[in-house]
Amino acid sequence: MLYKEHSVPTRKNIALVAHDNKKDELVSWGLRHKEQLTGHELYATGTTGTLMEKHLSMPVKKFISGPLGGDQQIGALISECKLDLLVFFWDPFEPMPHDPDVKALLRIAAVWNIPVACNQSSADYIFSSEMLAQTHNRQIPDYDSYLKQRALEQKALE
Ligand code: PGA
Repeated sequence: MLYKEHSVPTRKNIALVAHDNKKDELVSWGLRHKEQLTGHELYATGTTGTLMEKHLSMPVKKFISGPLGGDQQIGALISECKLDLLVFFWDPFEPMPHDPDVKALLRIAAVWNIPVACNQSSADYIFSSEMLAQTHNRQIPDYDSYLKQRALEQKALE
């Protein structure tokens, strides 16, 4: 795969997801970082978003609930470079009916090279980074160049 630079804005689009046993943790983490969170746009799976909106008194753009496809909606936006960061407190102690979606979301976040926090410590580290409030470049897959290169290789074989 070829890569190119993508400019990440100062005001970031942040996706929040927490499994049921982790929702309280995400709410208390969010309250601790409320001031920083107000500088960004928040997105979340349905139930997580409703809770965050209520406790943080901040607008959150909500997808449908995770088990109904919300994780996949977030993954789709990551692949369109419309989300810049993922805070995903998944539950390591409970199997989920939508485990394949969880795996797919983590994979797509790795493909598109976005920062992912799967627990409070990682989220604290990311939120203590000066990059959070700055614009910076991120390496992303360059699919157009990949297609062009493939076409050239094909032509050379003809
Ligand atoms: P929820 O989804 O925020 O709608 O509970 C989270 C998840 O389980 O992926």
